[in-house]
Amino acid sequence: MGAVIHARDVRKRYGRSTLALDGLDFDVAAGRIVGLMGPNGAGKTTALKSILGLTPFEGELQVLGRDPRTERDSLMKDVCFIADVAVLPKWLRVDHALDYVAGVHPKFDRQRADDVLARTDIKRKSKVGELSKGMITQLHLALIMAIDAKLLVLDEPTLGLDLLYRRGFYEALLNDYFDHERTILVTTHQVEEVENLLTDVLFISHGKIVLDSTVDALPSRFAQLITTSEHVAAARALRPVYEREVFGRYAFVFDIGKGGAPTTDELAALGDIRTPSIADLFVALMNDGHSNGATAGRVGAEVAA
Ligand code: ADP
Repeated sequence: MGAVIHARDVRKRYGRSTLALDGLDFDVAAGRIVGLMGPNGAGKTTALKSILGLTPFEGELQVLGRDPRTERDSLMKDVCFIADVAVLPKWLRVDHALDYVAGVHPKFDRQRADDVLARTDIKRKSKVGELSKGMITQLHLALIMAIDAKLLVLDEPTLGLDLLYRRGFYEALLNDYFDHERTILVTTHQVEEVENLLTDVLFISHGKIVLDSTVDALPSRFAQLITTSEHVAAARALRPVYEREVFGRYAFVFDIGKGGAPTTDELAALGDIRTPSIADLFVALMNDGHSNGATAGRVGAEVAA
């Protein structure tokens, strides 16, 4: 099979003025855990809605070999879509939630959901409103894990959860669900909590992909230099994509993957270098020019090439 998601020049306009997707080009291969990350309003939800066939769009999009505009019903048999886990209605009983998902999803395995719930303290007759937040997370996980989907799409899944449960949610997903054949696409603007989970990153800003990379390739594409004030001028001369000052120390991010970029030896002569975290990169590439860096905010389009 080819790419699980194959997008070329995908465009979506709301009304006359809002270009929510401005020509998305990307591929997602099978067995990857991809973070689609961008600030609020970047186009994440619109991209997911297009992928799921929930909104019309222009351009070419193939999801599991199907066009979501015309083959949505068949596509949904292989896709599981979960938004914010905190939105299950409070009046809903646990067993009725299971009945509901069993009724709407052809690949839902009721027995598997029961097995997962049996490992928790959740009672079948309880209402969602009577469960603790941790239990609601477990219920959601039981629902997800019982769906034998090829593609799992999660839209800001932990938005309503406390930090403690967010970590648990992602850990369970990784340990108990992901099996290297499934593909997971997760959107978030809380980069820190998914960065250890991902195999690939897609950064989206103003409806455009500004970074498309495997996590493994990031060390050869970006370097972060931590230095002191006497090296600032020399570091700036090497054209960083971002800089910031924290308590008298300066952190610069360099795109070392492109032609004319400084070598790691040149950077090491100025201070400590390391690979930026995904969260650092997110700040660097999504910055709208608020930092001191001369080129910050404009680098997104350049690094996408
Ligand atoms: P994100 O999920 O990254 O926060 P969205 O895809 O929701 O971004 O939104 C992208 C852009 O499209 C924003 O400018 C948003 O205001 C606009 N938008 C989203 N949904 C609609 C809609 N139903 N009608 C009009 N504009 C919309």
